[in-house]
Amino acid sequence: EHKSSLNIFEQHESEVRSYCRSFPTLFTKASGSKMWDEAGKEYIDFFAGAGALNYGHNNPLMKQKLIQYLQNDGVTHSLDMATEAKRQFLLQFNKIILEPRNMNYKVMFPGPTGTNAVESALKLARKVTGRSNVIGFTNAFHGMTLGSLAVTGNKFKRNGAGVSLNDTTSMPFDGYLGAEIDTLDYLKSYLDDSGSGGSLPAAIIVETLQGEGGIFEASIPWLRGLEQICRSNGIMLIVDDVQMGCGRTGTFFSFEQAGIQPDIICLSKSISGFGIPMALTLIRPEIDIWEPGEHNGTFRGHNLAFITATQALEYWKTEDFSNDILKKGMLVNEALNEVVRAYPELEGEVRGKGLMRGIAYKAEGLANEISKLAFASGLIMETSGTDSEVIKMMPPLTIDIADLRKGLTIFKECMHSMVE
Ligand code: PMP
Repeated sequence: EHKSSLNIFEQHESEVRSYCRSFPTLFTKASGSKMWDEAGKEYIDFFAGAGALNYGHNNPLMKQKLIQYLQNDGVTHSLDMATEAKRQFLLQFNKIILEPRNMNYKVMFPGPTGTNAVESALKLARKVTGRSNVIGFTNAFHGMTLGSLAVTGNKFKRNGAGVSLNDTTSMPFDGYLGAEIDTLDYLKSYLDDSGSGGSLPAAIIVETLQGEGGIFEASIPWLRGLEQICRSNGIMLIVDDVQMGCGRTGTFFSFEQAGIQPDIICLSKSISGFGIPMALTLIRPEIDIWEPGEHNGTFRGHNLAFITATQALEYWKTEDFSNDILKKGMLVNEALNEVVRAYPELEGEVRGKGLMRGIAYKAEGLANEISKLAFASGLIMETSGTDSEVIKMMPPLTIDIADLRKGLTIFKECMHSMVE
């Protein structure tokens, strides 16, 4: 019997109500792909801080580096002053991530979180092009500050802005209008119209795989087509890799698989590797036109995050980690397909790639019900999609195969007990 000092909907009485998660317990400990609550109950974590914990909770190598750094009185906060921790991160990021991929980008620290990276990308694209409109896509999620919200598709979240969100246009994402309609042609005709009557956009911002929106994947030809459209119209291509970057889809950058070169790339969540807030905006050197002080902030690049982030890069020195992610992804995929086949009456649809996978269900509330049941059985899983219709699995990329199988077994048992 599970005991907790919390009732289901009141996590902390003095906390505002805007948080959406209502996992009814109080967590006290976390390690790798597991969490424990105050009653000592163990949970397998298939949520991984919404992608901020790709290397697991309290990754031992990063923890060790951090403790060592603090013990030596390393600089913790320094605004944008040069530090050894920052230098090491930049050196290693270039050496391990950018150079082997033939990517020539300058690194900007836009602020502590994903939405800061998106804001800086939108501002820069507008400044570079002298244009104001930005195209986002249906079901997109880019963050909660006003600029990011303006390119986010979710109506409920947009309404929360309380002001009109101008200078953005929403276009159908790959597959949104069904297989018969070519969404790139649709976009092209919109741009042709604006070429004659209105003005072209400064940027197009896209997620290669929409995490919050419901695990919708853009095809490789579609992403290449999008890049082509941007090039031929002088539009900045921004890839928001905040959730899908840092290996979630199997490669460090999600767009690598399409072989495209965005003008601007947004990274956050797992870039620090340890759950410490950190964000990067990567920009092509030619468009580095910021004036000093034009975009600043107190916590732009934190030294403690640099320490763990530099350690996290070690995972990417060989192909092994990528291969491991793909292998685990196939395991998840098999289990999900098995469940969908076992209960055809639920009309589940398996989605995703790498270690971002899930099942979309038609019946209202079903995904949430599954998530609640799984939680009671010791598996943490979130839902995504406009109506929370998708059960989403995103375990740490470093999860042991045994824990992965255990989590999948809990999921299968929950489905079984629910349907029987
Ligand atoms: N972009 C994407 C694709 C995201 O998934 C998120 C967060 N879920 C954000 C931006 C915003 O990041 P943050 O919550 O750190 O501001």
